Amino acid sequence: MADEKEKDIKAITEDTNRFKCPIQKAILFLDEFIEGPMCARCLPCPMGSYEMRVRYHRLAEGQAAQGDIEAIKNIAPIMLDASMCKKGKDTAKFILDTMETLPQVYEAHTEGACPDRECVKLIAYRVIPDKCVACDECRVVCKDFAILGEKRKPYLSGYYAYEVVDLRCSRCGKCAEVCKYGAIEIVNIKDTLAVKA
Ligand code: SF4
Ligand code: SF4
Ligand code: SF4
Repeated sequence: MADEKEKDIKAITEDTNRFKCPIQKAILFLDEFIEGPMCARCLPCPMGSYEMRVRYHRLAEGQAAQGDIEAIKNIAPIMLDASMCKKGKDTAKFILDTMETLPQVYEAHTEGACPDRECVKLIAYRVIPDKCVACDECRVVCKDFAILGEKRKPYLSGYYAYEVVDLRCSRCGKCAEVCKYGAIEIVNIKDTLAVKA
């Protein structure tokens, strides 16, 4: 039984490998821990994990302040000490590890930037005009109709680069995957706002 419980946390930890961003990793970990192995028998574990999850969502959405990082820093060691079982302790350890390893990434999120470009509320997809050859591949795969452009015609010399319409874009990433020309980049949305301002 103990092995089975340990496997749950191990599986959650492995799941987090699909992200590079420690904020996304922590959200996935806490979401799955709260939904699954956490039993809510001792107070610091459920309270701590719920409270940290709120703070992590703020970080992922660009609404966090330094106080949110401090709160996570304070909660995790208490949860580590006071949790009665390995699951609670492993969860606190997971959080503390990411904080110790990548403090600069946490700081960046308080300034509205996700260095790994994985927090969807903080990023935008953009076509790099000089690289775009108007092949139309990105528009075809975009299920949200968020790409504007007209396919280049072989018998015409001129063409316009494609564009992404931010408001329609769900940040699924399909366009960047199919573009063979490396003409679609992911940028921090705050930088694009600064350019527009
Ligand atoms: S630390 Fe363990 S026993 Fe306590 S609430 Fe969390 S999962 Fe349950
Ligand atoms: S797939 Fe790339 S090159 Fe083709 S239209 Fe889209 S951005 Fe331009
Ligand atoms: S990220 Fe997805 S929704 Fe956004 S433009 Fe690309 S394919 Fe369309």
